[in-house]
Parts: sequence; structure tokens; C-alpha cells
Amino acid sequence: MRRYTVSPSRPTTRPSRAARPNSRTAPTAAVLNHEQWGLVGNVALVERLERLVSRGLDAHAFLFVGPRGVGKTFLAKQFANALICHRPTSGHACGDCESCSMFVLNRHPDVIMVGDLEGRISVAHIRVLLETLNKRAAIAPRRVTIIDQAERLTEEAANALLKTLEEPRGTAIFILTATSTAVVPPTVASRCAVMPVTAMPRRTIEAELINRGLEANQARAVAMLSDGRPAFALYLATQPHGYDQAVEDSDVLLTLWESTVPEQLSTAAKLADAYHEPPRLEGLLERWESMLGRLLRAAAGLRERGPSHQRIDRLGRRLHPAAIAAAARYLNELRPRLQRTANVRLALESFVLHLPRPT
Ligand SMILES: [Zn+2]
Repeated sequence: MRRYTVSPSRPTTRPSRAARPNSRTAPTAAVLNHEQWGLVGNVALVERLERLVSRGLDAHAFLFVGPRGVGKTFLAKQFANALICHRPTSGHACGDCESCSMFVLNRHPDVIMVGDLEGRISVAHIRVLLETLNKRAAIAPRRVTIIDQAERLTEEAANALLKTLEEPRGTAIFILTATSTAVVPPTVASRCAVMPVTAMPRRTIEAELINRGLEANQARAVAMLSDGRPAFALYLATQPHGYDQAVEDSDVLLTLWESTVPEQLSTAAKLADAYHEPPRLEGLLERWESMLGRLLRAAAGLRERGPSHQRIDRLGRRLHPAAIAAAARYLNELRPRLQRTANVRLALESFVLHLPRPT
């Protein structure tokens, strides 16, 4: 039976790398397998989805919201699979029927993934989708459309989608994902049943990674950077480049905080150039949010662990916790606006100038 949750399983091989305390080098955990990970946690949400599949849907559009890498897409796909299965059991796809077999191969004619991995979802994408939805489902009981990262919808595309979200076509079901309801046009979010997907405790992630064969220091570093997001943790654990980039993006905030105002403005301008694409920018700001949390703990006197911990400890001791909390609030206000503004440079400059000076 295919389930929403996959039990942790110990891999049969272990990474050969020896323990390297405080290593800043990216982990290389070839044994970690994305398919094995599944979604861990979010028990109440999984139960709610099971009930919807087994007892009937109370909405035709669902919006899974949560930080990147928390498992939204995985969950959306599992939900879609259960909805197109011919013989779902206890709210789960059977994994054996024709529909399930085609879904697993990514070849299901009634499951539509909208947009490509890069860039925006345009009105042209939505028009093609609406034409497809005019036809009857080919083999499944219904058609399921997945709009991953719905924040990529252009305003025009969102408007083209509205009427269908309001008055569904036949048995069409929509599943959208986004980092929050604030980054999706309110007209779209208000027509969806919102499904919050939440992060897990870091220690649980650390234990899971160790259970899957990652060396303890690496597991701790990855868990610290992951902020309780299992899919992101797995990405960091298996992609050395991704791990290095996450550390680098996090450390930029420390550099900004330690710089003079002219240096800060110069760095902000360079970042605006390098991170002008919304997904990259959002990734950078997520790292900063995470770093603010670590600085806050250091400022409160808690001993820091994980990458750059000595630097974080040093800076944290020079900052008042209230000042770090204020910077975090400002960053949170800025993030939805940054999704829509063309002037990333001004927004970043404004943020760095709001960083309180260390004592
Ligand atoms: Zn099935």
C-alpha cells in the first residue's frame, strides 16, 4: 500500500567518510534516497487528507502552504495519487491499479503538472490547462491539476484561473503549493482549502539522518541548516553544492552585520544582481531567517552548534535579542513584498540599513 508517510528505514550501506568534527565540507551521503524519505510528521494533516479521500472531498481546490523543503510537493503528489486511484484503501492509493501504475511512471493522462521548473507560470500555461480540462478524464475518476510553487503564477495567469477555481469543470481537482498564502494572489488563496504543512523538530531530522547512515557531525550540521524541513535536509545531505550554497547564503547575513554602511549597500547591490530570480531570492531570505533564529539563540546565551557556530556566537553576544527579533520581523514583512517588487536592490538595501549595529 502506498502511504502518505514512509517509515524510516536503515540503509544497507553506510558512507565511507570518516567523522570530521566541525567540518565545513558538504556531506556526501549517497545512501540517502529521496524516495525512501517520504514525509515525516504532519500527522493531523495526513489524517485529514485520508478522511477527504475516503469520505469525499469538501473542496475542489487545495493550497498546501509551508516553507520550502517541508514536504508540500511530496504530500500534494501523494494526495493526487490517492484521488486518481481506482481502489483507494483507508484514504491511500492502492499502488497496484492502472491509474497508480501510470502515476508512478509520471505518465498519468489525468494528472497535470502546470508550468515548468524555471520561471513564471504564464497565462499561456493556464489556457492550455483549461483546454485540457474541457475533455473528460481518460482513465481516472477525476482529473487532478498540480500547480507547484503557485507564487510563480503571473497576475494574468491567476486571473485566468479564477473562474475555474470558483466554478469547477466537472470533476477537476486543483492542488496548489506555496510558501505561504501571502505570496499567492488573495483571489486564488481565498478559493482554496488551505492545508498548512509544518516543520519537524531539528533533533528528529538529525536522528533520521543518522538512522539513514549519515555521520553524526554531518547530520547535526544538516539538521541545523534544514530548520526541520525534511525534503530540504535530504537535499543538503545529498547535494554537496547545495550544502555549500546554503552555508554561504547564511553567512552573507553575518558579513552584512559586521560591515560598515557603505559596504552593506555595496553588498546589497551585488546580491540584488545575483539573486534577482524570485526562487533564488526566496532561498537567500530563508537562509537569513534561519540565521536570525540562530543568532537569537546565541544572543540569549545558548551555545550554538552547526556551521559557522563560532562566528554566530561572537556576533550574537554583541547583539540584543530584541534587536535580532526586530530584524526578523522586518524580514518577514519584506518577503511577500519582494515576490512582487521589481526593485529588489532597494528592498535589500532597506533591509540591511534596518540591521541594528552590534555593540
Ligand atoms: Zn490505485
